[in-house]
Amino acid sequence: MAIPKRLGKNTNGYLGETIDINSVLRDCFVSATAHGWNKHAITVNQEISLAAFIRPGVVTGESTDQPTRRKPRVYISTGIHGDEPAGPLAIRQLLQENKWPEGFGLWVCPCLNPTGFIKSTRENASGVDLNRQYLQPQAPETIAHINWLSQQPMFDLCLCLHEDWESHGFYVYELNPDNQPSLAEGIVKRVAEVCPIDTSELIEGRPASNGIIRPTIDPRDRPQWPESFYLLTYKTKLSYTLEAPSDFPLETRVAALVGGVRSALEILAQPLTRITTTE
Ligand SMILES: [Zn+2]
Repeated sequence: MAIPKRLGKNTNGYLGETIDINSVLRDCFVSATAHGWNKHAITVNQEISLAAFIRPGVVTGESTDQPTRRKPRVYISTGIHGDEPAGPLAIRQLLQENKWPEGFGLWVCPCLNPTGFIKSTRENASGVDLNRQYLQPQAPETIAHINWLSQQPMFDLCLCLHEDWESHGFYVYELNPDNQPSLAEGIVKRVAEVCPIDTSELIEGRPASNGIIRPTIDPRDRPQWPESFYLLTYKTKLSYTLEAPSDFPLETRVAALVGGVRSALEILAQPLTRITTTE
């Protein structure tokens, strides 16, 4: 396929396509229903709730002498920034295609900032960047989301889907404090088939290598935690933030995020790479 080119639309922020988030979420709901997912509405307040879909994973071996083994549990979230439409569209496509690794437990939040999407702003309708709220949450969306997360089990992998309006291509931010087998190279390799990779040595002020950012100091020293720091602290030991370049065509960015998620799950599903025991 032809390599997509930058559109040159974005100046001081995202100026590309917008989506009808309610229509996208309705499509997600229809697919989740058709494929037997559990559907949660996380109540934020009288006007807003956050959708969440769960497909419990398969546990095998309980009746044998073997330790109980289960398939990986994966959490995928997106739509925390209302000017990043590719994430909810990627989740919609993944739910519609319904091709998930056998037996995996899946937790999916398709839109964490519904009021931001109505206004097409990074922040919610009250002007709060929800992805800076996770150390000391004030926003009702974040409080409700954390409350819901605290009721869920530990995850083997968390994927947060984002877009970056000024990046030169796709990149991924890895949080892997236990040095587990990395999924980052596999993610970048797959995404490179459909979308340029940002090969800058510095991305968002952080050292990067072939589209991968690996922080060398504990990033949680930062005072304003994004969702991924909360996840790393309380819910997982392996987290990737996937960033699609939003100055490229929307279909390219959606393909990048869908490909990134698929590659991460496929690597995790390889039996020799990892078999997870219960925590
Ligand atoms: Zn974002």
